[in-house]
Amino acid sequence: MASNTELFERASRVIPGGVNSPVRAFRAVGGTPRFIARGEGAYIYDAEGKRYVDYIGSWGPMILGHGHPAVLEAVTKAAAEGFSFGAPTEREIELAEEILKLVPSMDQVRLVSSGTEATMSAIRLARGATGRAKFIKFEGCYHGHTDALLVKAGSGLATFGHPTSAGVTPGAAADTVVLEYNNVEQLEAAFAQYGDQLACVIVEPIAGNMNFVRASLPFMSALRRLCTAHGALLVLDEVMTGFRVALGGAQAHYARLIPGFAPDISVFGKVIGGGMPLAAFGARREVMQHLAPLGGVYQAGTLSGNPVATACGLATLREIQKPGFFEALSAKTCQLIDGLSAVAAENGVPFSADSEGGMFGFFLMPELPQNYATVMTTDKTRFNSFFHAMLDAGVYLAPALYEAGFVSAAHSQADIDATLAAARTALR
Ligand SMILES: *Cc1c(COP(=O)(O)O)cnc(C)c1O
Repeated sequence: MASNTELFERASRVIPGGVNSPVRAFRAVGGTPRFIARGEGAYIYDAEGKRYVDYIGSWGPMILGHGHPAVLEAVTKAAAEGFSFGAPTEREIELAEEILKLVPSMDQVRLVSSGTEATMSAIRLARGATGRAKFIKFEGCYHGHTDALLVKAGSGLATFGHPTSAGVTPGAAADTVVLEYNNVEQLEAAFAQYGDQLACVIVEPIAGNMNFVRASLPFMSALRRLCTAHGALLVLDEVMTGFRVALGGAQAHYARLIPGFAPDISVFGKVIGGGMPLAAFGARREVMQHLAPLGGVYQAGTLSGNPVATACGLATLREIQKPGFFEALSAKTCQLIDGLSAVAAENGVPFSADSEGGMFGFFLMPELPQNYATVMTTDKTRFNSFFHAMLDAGVYLAPALYEAGFVSAAHSQADIDATLAAARTALR
């Protein structure tokens, strides 16, 4: 049996950095990434046979835990019928109908293979539908690795963005305006300056790529109001929050708090594929009709709506609609973060935590941060030693302080208790 270290060395010879997505490399926390051999329910097992309680769940998709019997059966059956045809299938309709039933802000949806593809296409659709070029994004929100989205704020208020990645040209970043999350004043100023040139604003309603930061109600209300007033489209990136924080996504949560609230375009991923490569974007019919083959906005994909992926997504969406599913998941997640907060208090460690549905975040600071700059003031050394102590104790948290955590339906009371027992030592 090869060790994690041996596998990492071997991987590093043939795969850049030994990983196929950077955060897996443990660069933020140091140490050797665990190579996962298999998952079962709430657990993953590494190449050395060590078991971990899994709070990453493939970064969100595994809301039912690993190897859920109904999902496994659906996937196995679909695989036996054929992996891919490059022609339409009935299951794509079923999945689209299921998604639309749960998300009333959309009349139509287009299926793609990754969140990156979905947000990229949503931006193109917004630009095509409005005939405008510029758009707003917020610091700390991640929308996949499309050129125009790998952009950070320039110096000064509401200036155009600078690439955050080599290989992204200034031209690709030139129409992206990057603002601070939860800053209504800056948003107003940006709309005053560029309002009639803005195709859309793209935002994570609960930002899960800077740990866990909610859009405040005044901020979300201002987003809706300003987009409507200036003819820009509001794009909610629910790749992480969709079917994870509530059955109807974060937009259902905000619609309860802000009467009449709805986005113009919604983007989904992660949970809707149940662990298979599948994502989607959707909107009202008037907007979606701009897409090829109906309209002039080109968008396509060889494996889009893949028959095995759609089977996995459908089976997952059916399970999470069972009565009491989200109530139980939310209660369990609350129990975890309340428990962690209590342990931190016992140990005199500054701590704050928040959750919605099966998504959570915690901070080694006394108050919940409202934006990326504050998140990044976290005591990194302390976080990293906490992370490694938990990992050694068999609890797999996200290997970076700016990532959210996820609880699945498979996590048991015993798993939560074991996690809190580990934290009691790790937070000392
Ligand atoms: C994960 C994520 C993406 C990118 O999805 P991929 O499937 O990794 O391309 C986009 N937006 C948000 C909010 C995400 O969390």
